[in-house]
Amino acid sequence: MRFVLLGAPGCGKGTQSALLQKKYGIPGISTGDILRAAIAAGTPTGEKAKTYVTTGALVPDEVILELVEHRIDQGDATAGFILDGFPRSIPQAEGLEGFLGQRGWKLDRVLKIDVQKKAILERMTSRRVCPGCGAVFNVLTQPPQKSGICDACGTGLIQRDDDTEETVRKRLNVYESATAPLIDYYDAKGLLSIIHGDGQVDQVFNQIVEALARAISPSGTQSGGRTQNPGGR
Ligand code: AMP
Repeated sequence: MRFVLLGAPGCGKGTQSALLQKKYGIPGISTGDILRAAIAAGTPTGEKAKTYVTTGALVPDEVILELVEHRIDQGDATAGFILDGFPRSIPQAEGLEGFLGQRGWKLDRVLKIDVQKKAILERMTSRRVCPGCGAVFNVLTQPPQKSGICDACGTGLIQRDDDTEETVRKRLNVYESATAPLIDYYDAKGLLSIIHGDGQVDQVFNQIVEALARAISPSGTQSGGRTQNPGGR
């Protein structure tokens, strides 16, 4: 199964990706995580990406496309993967379609997680991440068992540099202008499901699982256009 989690920064893509990776046994590919690792390691890609990431701007499409194309050829991704934070622009979506097609692959579904804008700012400024294993927590809604410590690997949690209020506002603007057009793009291809992301983590998760089940079942909605998930009514 190959699918995309689409939505504004802070909509819960990372949290859902972690749960979905476990459920389906496929890797999550987060371009944000790949870029942060490259920046931390000081690689040439990291150097190129640094200013964009810290200011909340989009890294150039050709850099991102190269990273993702390389990543999907690794052995763990042959049976499927979850794309989180990619594509983020129409050229990226077109590039993705091109290199999936070259491998005889296609996307099964694009799940757009809807969250009200006012909730996003609160979510993002209270988000904490583990620099060791990438686990995501939220001090208000999903705190770690021991304050400031990752439940999974025991590393001290940090706040991302780009989770400050000013940068979050910029990232939301970038999302509106560059990424939101992907909603119509994938709707026109009959691939889009709208997921209501304001509820609890498990409610959002269940909607995604139901939407994926419909998409891959023979009577699914894959060619039927945009679906609103009943779980979110
Ligand atoms: P994220 O963790 O997905 O919110 O990404 C953090 C930052 O990495 C973004 O604000 C961008 O600067 C950069 N980034 C991540 N994914 C992409 C992408 N697909 N295209 C361009 N820039 C990206």
